[in-house]
Amino acid sequence: MIEIHEDKCIGCEKCLKTCPVDALKMKEGVAKVDEGLCISCSACIPACPVDAIEPILKASKAASADYSGVWVFAEQHDDRCRPTGPELLGKGRELADELGEELCAVLLGSDVGKLSDELIAYGAEKVYVVDDKILENYTTEAYTTALVTLISKYKPSVFIFGATHLGRDLAPSVAGRMGLGLTADCTGLSITEVEDVKVLLQTRPAFGGNVMADIVCPNTRPQMATVRPHVMQPLEPDPERDGEVIQEHVKISPESIKTEILEIMEHEDSGEISVEEADVVVTGGRGAGGEEGFKMLRELAKALGGTVGCSRPIVEEGMMSKSHQVGQSGKTISPELYIVCGVSGAVQHRVGVRGSKYIIAINKDPKAPIFDMADFGIVGDASKMIPMLIEKVKEKTC
Ligand SMILES: Cc1cc2nc3c(=O)[nH]c(=O)nc-3n(C[C@H](O)[C@H](O)[C@H](O)COP(=O)(O)OP(=O)(O)OC[C@H]3O[C@@H](n4cnc5c(N)ncnc54)[C@H](O)[C@@H]3O)c2cc1C
Ligand code: SF4
Ligand code: SF4
Repeated sequence: MIEIHEDKCIGCEKCLKTCPVDALKMKEGVAKVDEGLCISCSACIPACPVDAIEPILKASKAASADYSGVWVFAEQHDDRCRPTGPELLGKGRELADELGEELCAVLLGSDVGKLSDELIAYGAEKVYVVDDKILENYTTEAYTTALVTLISKYKPSVFIFGATHLGRDLAPSVAGRMGLGLTADCTGLSITEVEDVKVLLQTRPAFGGNVMADIVCPNTRPQMATVRPHVMQPLEPDPERDGEVIQEHVKISPESIKTEILEIMEHEDSGEISVEEADVVVTGGRGAGGEEGFKMLRELAKALGGTVGCSRPIVEEGMMSKSHQVGQSGKTISPELYIVCGVSGAVQHRVGVRGSKYIIAINKDPKAPIFDMADFGIVGDASKMIPMLIEKVKEKTC
């Protein structure tokens, strides 16, 4: 909700154009808000030249019975769904079944409706689409207004986002505008009961990864969370699955958008597969033998058709770029095969690689914690073990 300070209002009417639901009207020369219509989107606030509009941010004790549906934000780019949409739909299916509610995806952009079928194949029963030129390139304000409007209309009980660059910006913006709770960077989501009401249990590492915190938002709806890419598994897509596509129009005023996109620069493709996408990741830590050791790790990764990752100290020492770092403050990965050399296996590292199918650890210390999670462990000096592995792999592949 907002409050308009009548003593400050100069009657310029600029705010009227920004309201997506026409909740603002002029009366006796000052702007008035219709509280029955206002959806608390805050789009009018920056439009006021004299700061006459202020948000009233108070978390409402939403009646949980009025809210239903598990929503997933389906991020898209270049005419393709980003992997987080299908991944979150996989987990969303489980949550929706347990709550007895429907699973929906939300798709925003320009000319994106064609991606709905893919989201239905991955488990969405409904796809809400807002197709508008103003949403072609991401801006916090336009995307937030679109989502706040949809939430106010349909009242979902749960809304999850990928913890991507975009999701980490958008989810807090929506939560902030609506006065909701938000748990960032969850590694687990499930359903529990608080006072006989089914709620979303959001699990994430806390205190530097030393404890796993279970968080609930019993008083506000929707319950909102972001989840790191590759933590959840998508369902097998079924093109025969039925679903409904709901086209929505949301009024988004260009005046409410504070950012102007001057140029879009594509990230330069180094030709390397990213650690998040690779089926095989060969990671080195402080015990991998420095520059020489990493040369060998690259050779092993190449022989296996994979890519090289590293622990955090390797980035801090400037040996590799942050995009290769695996773990809590780096990338979360789920390759088919994870080979990890000279890494102790601190909890902050392990939390990022738990989704790996097979883990082979090489460490000279038989008590290194990395062995606790490894499927196969080799106790020995990495500088001797890696050349032997390279030789064996080359023998098999030549
Ligand atoms: C908030 C926070 C976030 C963090 N995020 C991350 C993260 O995202 N990713 C991450 O990796 N870390 C992260 N860390 C750091 C983490 O706690 C550890 O310090 C780090 O993972 C240790 O890196 P390491 O295993 O390479 O080095 P070390 O702990 O120094 O371990 C080196 C290992 O190599 C072995 N070794 C030594 N010589 C050899 C040899 N010749 N052959 C074989 N083995 C050998 C040793 O036995 C040892 O086990 C984070 C820490 C904090 C506080
Ligand atoms: S712009 Fe948003 S916050 Fe402002 S009156 Fe309209 S609905 Fe309410
Ligand atoms: S933009 Fe501000 S000053 Fe102008 S009418 Fe709206 S509240 Fe009044």
